[in-house]
Amino acid sequence: MPEETTVHLPAIEKHIEHLHQGFDYWPTLENGTPPAMGDYRWPAEMILSTWYQAGTREPPDNELEYRTGDSGGGFDKLDFKFLPKEQQLPPETDIDLAIPLNRRGGHGPASGVDREIEISLPWYGGGMSFGSVSEQVMLARAMTAKEWGTFTSTGEGGFPDSLVKYKDHIITQIATGMFGVSEETIQHAPIIEFKYAQGAKPGLGGHLLGDKTTVTVAKMRESVPWVSLFSPFPFHSVYSVEDHRKHVDWVKTINPEALVSVKVSTPTDVDMVAVGSYYAGAHIVHLDGSYGGTGAAPEIAKKNIAMPIEFAIPKVHKYLLGENIRDEITVMASGGVRTVYDIAKAIALGADGVVLGTAELIAMGCTRCSNCERGRGCPFGLTTTDPELSLLIKPEWGAQRISNLNASYAKQLRDILRRLGLKNIRDLRGRTDLLIYKR
Ligand code: SF4
Repeated sequence: MPEETTVHLPAIEKHIEHLHQGFDYWPTLENGTPPAMGDYRWPAEMILSTWYQAGTREPPDNELEYRTGDSGGGFDKLDFKFLPKEQQLPPETDIDLAIPLNRRGGHGPASGVDREIEISLPWYGGGMSFGSVSEQVMLARAMTAKEWGTFTSTGEGGFPDSLVKYKDHIITQIATGMFGVSEETIQHAPIIEFKYAQGAKPGLGGHLLGDKTTVTVAKMRESVPWVSLFSPFPFHSVYSVEDHRKHVDWVKTINPEALVSVKVSTPTDVDMVAVGSYYAGAHIVHLDGSYGGTGAAPEIAKKNIAMPIEFAIPKVHKYLLGENIRDEITVMASGGVRTVYDIAKAIALGADGVVLGTAELIAMGCTRCSNCERGRGCPFGLTTTDPELSLLIKPEWGAQRISNLNASYAKQLRDILRRLGLKNIRDLRGRTDLLIYKR
């Protein structure tokens, strides 16, 4: 059996050292030409502007475009209908960004839990497993979640011991591979997330190639080192709402106080899935649209199967309204939410809040090079489990970068609400009348 690798990487160490010196190190627009990175959804300017925010806690004050991408559709085609200046709220207005995650308050079918959990910002961190990312990255995300009174999710690779002190801000994910799931990790969690599917690869379970299944990762997953791990699809114990209800009962037996989140991709009947999740006892339905995931998702699945999140959110919101249960369940959206303008648009389309993943990786230096599936493919030590490469991310530094991004987002979101004449983020939900379609 190969040992964990110990090859030194002086060139990359130098690169990260520069990164730690601040955003000025990063390439900037030269003669109006962006550097060769990014794509239509995450253009180079958006990556640069995210780095800027992660370095300064402010949106860029130069020519960098930080609001929309170049995809030609979805969020990039929407804009806000802001009020005339004289009708906008004054800059000193106190604007509330907090949202509750338990809207059921102990009532409704199969609910049981009356514990109130509120997050100070309308977003939290999505599942990234130990294996898909390093323990250092998980720690950075957990530290930020604690600082901001919000959450991050374990993904399906288990709960490293170093995260236990942040457990009040960590969602334990249960996915089809059941990797790292134990009574203890369920008991730790204020929120349990069942991942039934993910938008980047609907119809497929999680993939962790052998390269990344190091000795430590394999131990956490109770598996064999250097062997690829393909999670099954679907949960072979769940083929109906009734089966799902049994799942919920199972975790509630172990942790009666936990809220239950259900993460689903966005098939055409996603509205029915959301209603079924509610009746099975879920507090949160997490819709994961087709543009999320790291570069590790297989090409055949990426961007080709599920519905874009911009279509799924209003479909679910309206259906839940029609069923008279919209205020009984929290709708979180992910999969292609890149900027705070995307966050605000997702909420205006009908979500209560969003779940971020890629934006946090970019805050820590990701360039969207799509090498995430390989053990030593990530040049920045993010989506790697290599014991040396992962040391390139210092958890405290990573936490500071994500925290700075949060601060910039919160500032901009308050400004968006102020210009719309709203004092509370909850008043933006479903306000499609405040959006315009750009032609
Ligand atoms: S920089 Fe790392 S995390 Fe980002 S796309 Fe490349 S390999 Fe993946």
